[in-house]
Amino acid sequence: MKMYSLSDLTHVRYERPHPSVARVVMARPEVRNAQGLRMTYELEAAFAAAVDDEKVKVIILAGDDPHFSAGHDLSETGEGEWPRIGTAADYWTGGAEGRFNIETEIYLGMCERWRNLSKPMIAAVQGKCIAGGLMLAWACDLIVASDDASFRDTTVAMGVMGGEFFMHPWELGTRRAKEFLFLADSLSAQEAHELGMVSRVVPRDRLADQVVEMAVAIASRPQFAIRATKLAINHAQDQAGRALSLRHSFALHQLTHADNEIRGGMAISTAGTTDRVAAKMRPASSGDRR
Ligand code: ZN
Repeated sequence: MKMYSLSDLTHVRYERPHPSVARVVMARPEVRNAQGLRMTYELEAAFAAAVDDEKVKVIILAGDDPHFSAGHDLSETGEGEWPRIGTAADYWTGGAEGRFNIETEIYLGMCERWRNLSKPMIAAVQGKCIAGGLMLAWACDLIVASDDASFRDTTVAMGVMGGEFFMHPWELGTRRAKEFLFLADSLSAQEAHELGMVSRVVPRDRLADQVVEMAVAIASRPQFAIRATKLAINHAQDQAGRALSLRHSFALHQLTHADNEIRGGMAISTAGTTDRVAAKMRPASSGDRR
């Protein structure tokens, strides 16, 4: 299937708040902007459009109020319906193999790809940003949070090793990353700022404007120098071991999915969660791919 064009978008909006800035907005507030397969490929199409447009210098990733992202949408399946871009095959063969293939493409592969987009990206985060939502924010170069934003990762509580894009130790430091995951505690915008994960904290009603102002300021700088700086900093992180540790973490993540499936028949475990959360986590079909 061909990649979506901007006119196909239904889960994402593509906006131009300034001639040099594109804003990609997750637009499923009724499910707290949960990221299903359709949204994933729409995000890819919107980012690609921003990269292709020579006038666009900076890309903003935002989510419709009240919350930035509830994480992955566990309910969407759809064999053969998605315009995949990676080289992994055999998504729907089931078992650990199928999950490994599809999560390689839609989570690890996409987040790595977006992290390395040739234009600077700013995440504008308000309200809650949970689990898979963190992966989206972390793929961006800068994160601006509203003062009421909070961050939380429930993956360990669901019996899996962190997320597929395991940036936790790089974003939070080793000890704080362990506490964040072991306890699934909320991190406030201010705490995330102190840890260096969030670039700036701003009042909620000023978030959109301040992020556009920041984007316009970056857009006014020499763009090749910005591009080279982004590459250099990302490369420094990779040389320090980030890229290889992410591969290892991804394998462990897949192992915990497989273990849950062997023991309980589902890729996630409900043992550490409340009944209400457990009911929501139950997959609509065997295609569950948290
Ligand atoms: Zn997973």
